[in-house]
Amino acid sequence: MSRPRSLSQFQAEFPDEAACAEFLIRHRWPAGFVCPTCRGCRAARLRSRAYTFECLGCGRQTSVTAGTILHRTKLPLTTWFWTAHLIATHSNGISALQLATQLGVKEDTAWLLLHKFRAAMTDRERQQLHGLVEIDQTEIPFRTDDSAGAPEGRVVIIGAVEIVDRITGEAPKTDFNRTYKNTRPRRVRLAVIADETQDSIHAFVRENIAPGTTLLTDGHSSYLGLNEGPETERYVLDQRVVGKMAAHLVLFWVHRVFSLMKRWGMGTFHGFRAKHLDRYLEEYAFRFNRRYWRRVSFERILGLALDHQPHGYAAVVGRKPRPNRANPPKRLAPRQRKTADGMRRDGTETHAMQETLLDGPDSA
Ligand SMILES: [Zn+2]
Repeated sequence: MSRPRSLSQFQAEFPDEAACAEFLIRHRWPAGFVCPTCRGCRAARLRSRAYTFECLGCGRQTSVTAGTILHRTKLPLTTWFWTAHLIATHSNGISALQLATQLGVKEDTAWLLLHKFRAAMTDRERQQLHGLVEIDQTEIPFRTDDSAGAPEGRVVIIGAVEIVDRITGEAPKTDFNRTYKNTRPRRVRLAVIADETQDSIHAFVRENIAPGTTLLTDGHSSYLGLNEGPETERYVLDQRVVGKMAAHLVLFWVHRVFSLMKRWGMGTFHGFRAKHLDRYLEEYAFRFNRRYWRRVSFERILGLALDHQPHGYAAVVGRKPRPNRANPPKRLAPRQRKTADGMRRDGTETHAMQETLLDGPDSA
């Protein structure tokens, strides 16, 4: 895969709407326009509607953005392209706030743009968590508006982290009597819940975690009942006794995620606002889950060049399958140095992770 464009290359290649449209046309119809209805190749370009072709066979009008994530957009194409470029060049993912600053648009607009790109990029991520999943709740303080000052309320957050073996990448076998060692987190889910009742917690689990999964939790009574019912809807409950101070040891990864998420919120947004809390959590989970496939090409982000490719994971994320997946390297001792997720097993972040999580709009 080619390197991302530099800023000056980008500006030279996409100076205006027409340049963006020509790029889309070239990539969607490399051998010339093809009508999606009748497969005819003869078409006239309309003068009355921008970047739209009318098929001379069946009369159907097709916009260059039809069927892409830019479908029916009211934003300029240059805004979309600039966003795709920023996503492609920010290896750790750009935040809505950073994007808003760069584009000079409202944070809401930036959020919607990112959301559309994310939805297109994360199909695979939407599969439910499975295998071994740590799950716990935490509380975070929030502000109700943009005013600085003391937090005004607290809200309950639930988090679930899929745990895999550090070397094999497989879920560890369920063992109620031992601590799971040499693991790393794979994907996370975070959500605001109304309270810590069985109803709220069960609803989150059923939406985000596949039945049959082993749930590693504390002794909270709201998890009871998840291991009952029909076999196809049942979970395996591995509840651990957690003393007052020890949740971060017993449920190591989910507490790691909680504390990084809180620090990210403080660093990037100077505290969470209630109105956007769900968005922040979604954004954090996206950035976390995306850390293993950082390089996504500009074309793929725009949803181009997908149609003629196999839709495997590696193809979707724009890289060759890792050769060592089939023959994982044998390590005599667990790796202690910098890891892909930027964390050490002893709980301290590496330098890279701190930068990732603490970068604010100023560093964009
Ligand atoms: Zn046609």
